[in-house]
Amino acid sequence: MPNTKYIFVTGGVTSSLGKGIVSASLAKLLQSRGYSTTIQKLDPYINVDPGTLNPYEHGECFVTDDGAETDLDLGHYERFLSVPTSQANNITTGRVYQNVINKERKGEYLGKTVQIIPHITDEIKSSIKLLGENGNWDVVITEIGGTVGDIESLPYIESVRQLRWELGSDCLVIHLTLIPFLAASGELKTKPTQHSVKKLLEYGLQPDILVCRAEHEIPREVRNKIARFCNVEPQAVIASLDAKTIYDVPLLMMEEELDKVAIRKLGLELGEEPELKTWKSFLKRLKNPKNSVKIGLIGKYIELKDSYKSIAEGFIHAGANNECSVELEWIHSEGINSENAQEKLGHLNGILVAPGFGERGIAGKLAAVKFARENKTPFFGICLGMQCAVVEFAQNVMGLESSSKEINSDVKHPVIDLMEEQKKIRNMGGTMRLGAYPCSLEEGSIAHQAYGTREISERHRHRYEFNNFYKDDFEKAGMKATGINSDTGLVEVVEIKDHPYFIGVQFHPEYKSTVANPHPLFIGFVKAALENV
Ligand code: GLN
Repeated sequence: MPNTKYIFVTGGVTSSLGKGIVSASLAKLLQSRGYSTTIQKLDPYINVDPGTLNPYEHGECFVTDDGAETDLDLGHYERFLSVPTSQANNITTGRVYQNVINKERKGEYLGKTVQIIPHITDEIKSSIKLLGENGNWDVVITEIGGTVGDIESLPYIESVRQLRWELGSDCLVIHLTLIPFLAASGELKTKPTQHSVKKLLEYGLQPDILVCRAEHEIPREVRNKIARFCNVEPQAVIASLDAKTIYDVPLLMMEEELDKVAIRKLGLELGEEPELKTWKSFLKRLKNPKNSVKIGLIGKYIELKDSYKSIAEGFIHAGANNECSVELEWIHSEGINSENAQEKLGHLNGILVAPGFGERGIAGKLAAVKFARENKTPFFGICLGMQCAVVEFAQNVMGLESSSKEINSDVKHPVIDLMEEQKKIRNMGGTMRLGAYPCSLEEGSIAHQAYGTREISERHRHRYEFNNFYKDDFEKAGMKATGINSDTGLVEVVEIKDHPYFIGVQFHPEYKSTVANPHPLFIGFVKAALENV
């Protein structure tokens, strides 16, 4: 077996060039050629993890099975590869410094002055090599966040420079750049790319492959020019044109032979020609829908669509599975009330109340649940959405003066309350109930029908829980806990009777929906919405 190969992906010129999608696409192609591949993201910010970030900052926080709160790019990696990631797949500058400072406090540096080089760079290098050393991966792709030239990402670039020397032919550097099109002169411009590569060279790093984002086809002579100025082979200048969907990108990269060039440069065998059968049939269904449904996503961070990235992608997977296009209508929870609910929600085939934190927008979420319950609109509540379903039911069906403790700490009937262990916690970072927990489903429940199995495992990210003190009262009134964690007795799923499809889940199913395995609860919800067209 050859050594693990490392591919580093850097970005230049601007942010948002799609480094994550290009990395995931290359990984997909390598995977389908028979190489086990994983992707890691290095983030240059000082937060130890993105768990404490407001979604408006960097979008959704993605959660892995092992309970790591990570960058949303890990969601793309999982959706493309259908291979779980873990804490090791996302490192931030904050975590690197925290590890180094902890070691310093323990005296592990034996009296040395602790410095960026070599101590911080050694820590970064060992975080990169950790994935390669566990024997699971033929190829580790490491995506470096930020743009070359940023002060923040310098230690990462320096670490890659050092690793290049240590790893020799076992590593490869791919640099993503932008080739802007100047409409006035009708030309593609290569200068920003030349400058960006020069910047990398200043840091001692020569890219092997350039992936050039462009709005127009890049002609051969332009590629030759880039190659000449940037010391890369003409075949290693790859065009990445705007795609209709991110799921087209692996096929576009295959046409550009990004995988072939990378494999040749790493000295690997080409392997089988990627068939991508499942992928292509997913794309075919995605692009040829037979029906369409309108689903309202009720949330309070809707100004930034990335805040609900995994939910939106879950609907793309489930829509394709149902051969139906899902038109997501993003509805601000702060704008909904009982007077305007009919006007805002009446035309929807399904209503999803999204996860979230804090009091803002809760009244609108409760109004949306009430509307869905009373009008028999298919309803799907995720995490806070499930908690809202429970509170709404307690208030309007059971007539209890009730709420979640998160929203009203003095409420008489806290039907959603903090778990005992959570009451002692003072630190905000990394202290929620996080990661995968098992759940047993009730025979014949909506959830059981969707999953087709009674034992499931799903990922969590929350502090509050259904208060079991009220469980029997809920059941008598018609809301049933149909999914329970058998180890702890915590309620994971609630459903109501006399409704075509009403389900709330305490966990986050969206984190596990992938192209190859669309999530059963999303499939079931879209089906129910289709029946309500
Ligand atoms: N704020 C709620 C809690 O902490 C729900 C969290 C969420 O929706 N992810 O329990």
